[in-house]
Amino acid sequence: MSARLPDSVLHLVWVEDRLLVRGEASLPDVGELRRILRGAGAADHLTPAELELPEMDGRRVRVYDVPEGWDPPDGWTARTLRSLHADFSAELFQLIGLARQKLDWLRTHRFCSRCGHPTEAHARHQAMACPDCGQLHFPRIAPAVIVLVTRGDEMLLGRSPHFPEGMFSTLAGFVEPGESLEETLRREIREEVGVEVDDLRYQGSQPWPFPHSLMVGFRARWAGGEVRVDGEEVVEAGWFTRDRLPPRLPFPLSIARRMIDGFLEADAPGDGPS
Ligand SMILES: [Zn+2]
Repeated sequence: MSARLPDSVLHLVWVEDRLLVRGEASLPDVGELRRILRGAGAADHLTPAELELPEMDGRRVRVYDVPEGWDPPDGWTARTLRSLHADFSAELFQLIGLARQKLDWLRTHRFCSRCGHPTEAHARHQAMACPDCGQLHFPRIAPAVIVLVTRGDEMLLGRSPHFPEGMFSTLAGFVEPGESLEETLRREIREEVGVEVDDLRYQGSQPWPFPHSLMVGFRARWAGGEVRVDGEEVVEAGWFTRDRLPPRLPFPLSIARRMIDGFLEADAPGDGPS
């Protein structure tokens, strides 16, 4: 079910990294927003100019950053973005993710990391500028490679220690300085599960606002090695098939799930030459 979209403005009220919603997943209308912000005390209203968010279906987007330790009024809850994925359309989820990513950037770039002076929003660039030393601070984006490793009709999925119970997903890791995406992919798979891969094929990418990644998806073919988890990044891993899936898979809007579904659909009985 999609969230109700009241007003001509989308009001996104953030309590730390959680979004304020009512009931199923309604965003506040302008009247509700006034009452909420009054109750929140010195709510820091971030203007759209600072965040430069695109409109959605003709609605402008406004973002509010509520001080830490604030308790939502009755009927309202502050929920993590991950927990809301089933309540929003893909477009709204992506827009809200973008808002969260940019808000995180603003919160962590109040001061110049070169000279310590307070920063200001740049007039033209999407950047925080230091009026003292002139340094520009652009939003951070951390590229990560996410990989579906296959072996015949099997796919290799693993569990990170912070996954929900029973969930297995594709393997992933951040790009390190000096690495190509292909090098990251081979290194991460080797480190996390001890296998070698070849036949790397690009599958698409997805902004991942937790808090500022860009997931770059690949499929790769197993080329050797037994699965042996590192016990830190990955605590359990194994080969799964269409008939033998883990209890839980990543949520449907994620690129991990899209790659898994794509593999399962291509492998569906009746598809392809028999
Ligand atoms: Zn500076």
